[in-house]
Amino acid sequence: MAAISLTGLTKVYPGDVTALDALDLVVPDGEFFALLGPSGCGKTTLLRTIAGLEAATGGTVAIGGRDVTALPPGKRDVAMVFQDYALFPHMTVRDNIGYPLRIRKVPGPERAAKAAEVAGELELLDYLARRPGQLSGGQQQRVALARAMAVRPSVFLFDEPLSNLDARLRLEARTFLKRLQRELGVTTVFVTHDQAEALALADRIAVLEHGRIRQLGTPTEVFRRPANTFVASFIGSTPMNLLPGTVRGAWVSVAGVLLPGPMGEGARPLPDGAEVVYGIRPEYLRYTTHHAPGSLPGRVTVIENLGSTQLLTLDSEEAGAAAGTGASLQVTVPEDLPVTLGERGYAIPRPERVLVYRDGELL
Ligand code: ATP
Repeated sequence: MAAISLTGLTKVYPGDVTALDALDLVVPDGEFFALLGPSGCGKTTLLRTIAGLEAATGGTVAIGGRDVTALPPGKRDVAMVFQDYALFPHMTVRDNIGYPLRIRKVPGPERAAKAAEVAGELELLDYLARRPGQLSGGQQQRVALARAMAVRPSVFLFDEPLSNLDARLRLEARTFLKRLQRELGVTTVFVTHDQAEALALADRIAVLEHGRIRQLGTPTEVFRRPANTFVASFIGSTPMNLLPGTVRGAWVSVAGVLLPGPMGEGARPLPDGAEVVYGIRPEYLRYTTHHAPGSLPGRVTVIENLGSTQLLTLDSEEAGAAAGTGASLQVTVPEDLPVTLGERGYAIPRPERVLVYRDGELL
């Protein structure tokens, strides 16, 4: 097992595409680390550069304190699981799992024993004689994991390994993967563009944009206090409301209404008169049809049924704000709250969950 340490890691593809921009990062031994970001932000490039499948243009990669920047993949003691599993279709499950041992010249009987042992851990014993085409997507995914585990690497590198599974299997596989990583204690870097997956699995998350880390933190830190509006709008199953406003003392004027500024842990005094963005998640707004001070009025223009909750869209212009000055925001309410389309309601922010951004950065 081993920590991963990246220093000034840079990757420039031909055509002057900077996929990694002088990245510094330490993933401690045994950590489950997620790389999260939109398409094209450099996640896969970063993973492949750690694996040695891409050569860095600049900077270094160290694994377990050893500089591996110039080493080929086979000498880095890492195992990678790809999005498409990359199983050999003509080989049985047993041979697929044993393949990395074969190329390490492990003798046949020992290889078969090891493959059976790992297959047992991943509940694949009944399928050892089958070929990948005779397995479900979830089983194929477990074979890919088993193949990665067979060599007991120091580091696991996962490139969106769950994205080919249907929604229910994906949840099951997620729980399975988390338990497995805990049991094995192998340092793991997991690439995903699914923020819910990153929040659920990781000990820490790096949110990437254009080859740079925009925020590094635990799931709680990244969810509760996104460092900038990029992360704020990326994290959360319903995006954070980000409303333009102006600071007025301890309050922020949004669409002509004074809303409470941040309070509680981490809150700092706001610069009076500053043009800011008022951030509040739909879950942290309370909805009422009675007028309340410090609330944003609006008309309910959309009701979305999310099962255990409803997501309301409130439009303040529809509720009488002057044209062009209104705000549209979303509010999460309980499933059983009676709400009528077109009714007038009020969204009351929880001040301890309010975030204020200036020039895109958290104040
Ligand atoms: P996705 O989620 O879509 O897989 P990603 O975050 O993994 O995206 P990368 O695949 O790492 O992103 O790509 C980062 C940037 O590098 C993109 O702008 C991409 O177009 C570019 N890129 C990737 N591979 C190459 C290549 N072989 N040659 C030139 N440019 C490349």
